[in-house]
Amino acid sequence: MEAFKNLGISESILKALQDQKFEKPTLIQQQAIPLVLTGHDVIASSSTGSGKTLAFSCGLIEQADGKRGIQALILTPTRELAEQVAKAISSFAKYKRLAVVSLYGGVSISPQIDLLRRAQVVVATPGRLLDHLERRTIDLGGVKTLVLDEADRMFDMGFRDDVELILKACPKERQTLLFSATISEDIVGLAQKYMKEPVELEAEKRVDPTKLHQVYYDVQDRDKFSLLTHLLAQEKEGLVMIFSNTRQWTDFVTDNLRRLGMDAIAIHGGLSQQKRNNMMKLFHSKRATILVCTDVAARGLDIKGVTHVYNYDLPADPKEYVHRIGRTARAGNDGKVINIVGSRDHENFRRILSLNKMNMPCEKTPAFEKVRSVFSGDSERGRRDGGRPSQHTQRSPRAFEPSASSFGRSGPRSRFGGSRGPRDLSRTPREASPSEGRGGERTFRGHSSVSSQPRRDSYRR
Ligand code: AMP
Repeated sequence: MEAFKNLGISESILKALQDQKFEKPTLIQQQAIPLVLTGHDVIASSSTGSGKTLAFSCGLIEQADGKRGIQALILTPTRELAEQVAKAISSFAKYKRLAVVSLYGGVSISPQIDLLRRAQVVVATPGRLLDHLERRTIDLGGVKTLVLDEADRMFDMGFRDDVELILKACPKERQTLLFSATISEDIVGLAQKYMKEPVELEAEKRVDPTKLHQVYYDVQDRDKFSLLTHLLAQEKEGLVMIFSNTRQWTDFVTDNLRRLGMDAIAIHGGLSQQKRNNMMKLFHSKRATILVCTDVAARGLDIKGVTHVYNYDLPADPKEYVHRIGRTARAGNDGKVINIVGSRDHENFRRILSLNKMNMPCEKTPAFEKVRSVFSGDSERGRRDGGRPSQHTQRSPRAFEPSASSFGRSGPRSRFGGSRGPRDLSRTPREASPSEGRGGERTFRGHSSVSSQPRRDSYRR
């Protein structure tokens, strides 16, 4: 506790930290807390899991007066992150009797209006906060601290204008803290416009690259689900997250894993907030051990014990890949990332490796059993796209050039710039998995055209 005390943290928060068995501050906490407590504006580049919530909230907790109205506002990109941050702040402020309220869409607005009457700290997603501003059910006139959490993600999600409107609705005399995994030009522009001589900080990543083992399997699109089930059965795991690019694929994977008796649950933007919260609870409590999700769940969430991240699809945006893999190898634990790369992922995967400057070993595709999978989603669009039969069984050896850098595990390079040596391109995937049939009994087959253009997802996440 001495180390926290030396940063200037007061007794009431120290006591709360002691209850949570925090022993020493993380790097971002060491760097940011003294600045935050002395009222500086701060731009911190820090990843999920770095301990940033305490770093940005200690000052606003110290300052807040339980007898006054809203004095601090934290903006987050997603509903789940709003919940998580509000919960963390409540836990740090438990000896100060502050009312912390989270505001997000997808749930009824009336209970939020009631809670706002007593709130000192508000954690909100931009859309719902603007709703409250338009209805005049929130007064930001007393805000002394404004935090933009995961600012880059908010911008990526198209909230830039909303964030600017909210910044304008807050008093000019305030402290502004901006936390973001990456600091883009856009963010710098916003900071120049709305922050006062911000101090820039760059902190450690709690994801340890030496603990993170990343591999990929190069398979036919139609074999992806079979390989996934095979690997899930083979690998000894704690919690597993399986990422997919779209709601339709997320439902497809979840439904089919459940049909096979696996305890898979889904989270994506098409589910009600109540359902998303329930699913998160199931996963946090390990009553379900496989979470299939779109990128809504990728950012900011701190889920303990995720040992494996699967990319069932590779994201079009290389930054999303980094956020996905950041769910594992946290807090000193090992983690494995398994990329199931079908033909439809080639372009995205190549871009991920090149822009993130990564090498990655290609794993030899094991023999696996053909598993019947059914597309039971209600989206005709999904059916049309996902149901297209495979066109290509072999790919051009020139399709993948090794990437230039040396991040990740070393060893002989593969077509994707990784170890284990180049795959034998003369072997068809059918030979690589001799137990596989042609899949006549399946009702779903992924399409496999290799595009020369970056693939953009046509579905919503
Ligand atoms: P955050 O980046 O704020 O989401 O924090 C990630 C996780 O680290 C949360 O579970 C926190 O409770 C935990 N945490 C934050 N700071 C510390 C610390 N100094 N010591 C131990 N755990 C911490």
